[in-house]
Amino acid sequence: MKKIFLTLIVSILGLTHVTSFAQQKSSLHAHVHGQAQLQLAIDQSQAVMSFSSPLDNFLGFERAPKDEAEQDKVKQLLQQLQNPLLWIELSPTAQCQAGQIELDSPVLTGKQKSNEEKKHGDLRFDVELQCKNPQHLRSLKAKLLQQYKGIHRLKVEVVHAGGQHAKTLHADEINMTW
Ligand SMILES: [Zn+2]
Repeated sequence: MKKIFLTLIVSILGLTHVTSFAQQKSSLHAHVHGQAQLQLAIDQSQAVMSFSSPLDNFLGFERAPKDEAEQDKVKQLLQQLQNPLLWIELSPTAQCQAGQIELDSPVLTGKQKSNEEKKHGDLRFDVELQCKNPQHLRSLKAKLLQQYKGIHRLKVEVVHAGGQHAKTLHADEINMTW
């Protein structure tokens, strides 16, 4: 019985990982200004964090930067993205470290031409986390809600062997435990 249960969990986690951004349009692709989505899939040895938000929440614009001031904003955001664990703090005793983020955002990666008038751009990324004690991964603190006033709500989904949890966080409630 236990084995069947574990197989089921593994397949759920595998599915979550594979479809992380490309196919989970319902929950992760919602483009609502002021809102962002975070998904955390915890496996036995590692975890994957997937994040999605309208760029407007961070930059105040969603197209390619038009001048130096806007370019600076993009640069700053890219710098902050180097350690996503400063945005989303995880249980300290889990001792997680973030690998390189897989960024999917044409505006930020410079793949969107300035003359391309695409109205709504997103900031999306996946990042793998290596945790020394993944079993201690029981909580998160969404510090980005206090760092970026443009994000009013963060919808969080956590998937782990114990089940699935969802919570909407905001600046006055940045903690989630499971
Ligand atoms: Zn938009």
